[in-house]
Amino acid sequence: MSFTTNGLVCGHHHLYSSLARGMPAPPQVPTSFLSVLENVWWRLDAALDLDIIYWSAALGAAEALLNGTTAIVDHHESPFAIEGSLDVIKSACDMVGISSNLSYGVTDRWNATQMSSTVSPSSQMTDEARRGLAENERFIKSGSRGMVGVHAAFTCANETLEAAADLAQQLGVGVHIHVAEGLDDVDAGHRLQSLSQDNWLIVHAVHLKEELKGTLAHNPRSNMNNAVGYAQPANWPHDVILGTDGIGADMLEEMRIAYIRHRESDITASPDDAWTWLANGEKFFPEVKDDVVTWSYDHSDSPWHVAFTPGIRCTSVSRKGDVLVRDGQPTKFDMNEIRAKAAEAASKLHERLS
Ligand SMILES: [Zn+2]
Repeated sequence: MSFTTNGLVCGHHHLYSSLARGMPAPPQVPTSFLSVLENVWWRLDAALDLDIIYWSAALGAAEALLNGTTAIVDHHESPFAIEGSLDVIKSACDMVGISSNLSYGVTDRWNATQMSSTVSPSSQMTDEARRGLAENERFIKSGSRGMVGVHAAFTCANETLEAAADLAQQLGVGVHIHVAEGLDDVDAGHRLQSLSQDNWLIVHAVHLKEELKGTLAHNPRSNMNNAVGYAQPANWPHDVILGTDGIGADMLEEMRIAYIRHRESDITASPDDAWTWLANGEKFFPEVKDDVVTWSYDHSDSPWHVAFTPGIRCTSVSRKGDVLVRDGQPTKFDMNEIRAKAAEAASKLHERLS
């Protein structure tokens, strides 16, 4: 039994969504997963600029650290602020003191200022997708840690999927892609089967029928929130990690949800599985094994205890000899300032959406 753990890892985040909380109601109440994307996320990402992205990422990264999460795998999209967006997110994570692995999610759903929700596999790669690939390439070639991001197969031409896979291979990194999250993307497995590699990060895979190579990022709360179904992560033949898909970065909470959703589908399920999925995030960030996170609970290293103890709080975080959180408060940045700047950015963003 211990009050401490390693630093925790969020294996799939969207730091740009931190300011979505409180956004104006969508023009129509979404009635399907695709309409959630159309009415909420694809309107929000189109309204982002680099200043809003910075404060959204800073708020999300700060909230992560204060929950003992010291590393984030992020997937970003901002179709009208592509160039430099990954540097902006990295600088926010660096300011807070957490590790990051960043991707720009390329897509062909934008063509200049026109958006279409579905893209024919046989269509040509758009300029927007080319710019997204270039952002991934520029960022990774500059020495920063990242993967080549792809939104999802159903919003990309085959030409774009192949170009992303080629670029990742050239750069020696994986592709970070949403796969079969909803039924709209049910063909993804078929289209990606000849492309996927062991270093890919396959996100969701709720409706995936074919076997793909790579690590699965399981996002139990987001999947429930979008009513897309259960991903059955215990059946994935390779490693599984846990992500939040943009709903904060409280990873002990996500582990509890992963466990209880697993248990709902199988009375023999043990929290040991969800705990392993959480710990597997360390493979993306070996440095978190040297972080020391102290919790308000003396069995914070026990899967069964954590699964049945909601409300465990992070009290301190040490990284590389630096105390980043003491008595639950950050030592290297001013949380009130981040909240104030994020609130200003949120007002600007919400005005654009009203
Ligand atoms: Zn996602």
